[in-house]
Amino acid sequence: MSENFWRKCSVCKKEIGFDSKYYVCSVSSCSKKRAPVQFCSVSCWDSHNAVLNHKNAGADEERSPKRRRMVTSSPQPQSQNSQSISNSSGDIPKDILVVVSKLKAYINTKSGMNTSADVMPVLSDIIRVECDKAIESAKRSGRKTVMARDF
Ligand SMILES: [Zn+2]
Ligand SMILES: [Zn+2]
Repeated sequence: MSENFWRKCSVCKKEIGFDSKYYVCSVSSCSKKRAPVQFCSVSCWDSHNAVLNHKNAGADEERSPKRRRMVTSSPQPQSQNSQSISNSSGDIPKDILVVVSKLKAYINTKSGMNTSADVMPVLSDIIRVECDKAIESAKRSGRKTVMARDF
């Protein structure tokens, strides 16, 4: 049996597809790993909230894991009554791009100094900036591969 959807809405049992928008309850006990609840729309979350009678709760927008890329249109109207964190800047992850242990080892060997943890995001941002430049350079050369000479 092959499933063509990710999960079902906890309220109306409508199927929530892969890589599509859904909503979770901002109350942390409602998003337990064991039995997570998810909603196809804010109005389904409203019914959930009516049953559980949360205080200061909201519906947080999430995106289900992707199986195949597809563009979803017409975003659902979202009630902005909560402090929901939505990253509208796209879904490019702001991960740490450096090998922390190796970087620390380098600085320590070179200088005997320690390295503060907040160095990693800053260095990662520098790497991202350089990568963005290299991507543009590769694009200009009509390549689909970023190469050493792009830096
Ligand atoms: Zn629903
Ligand atoms: Zn809840």
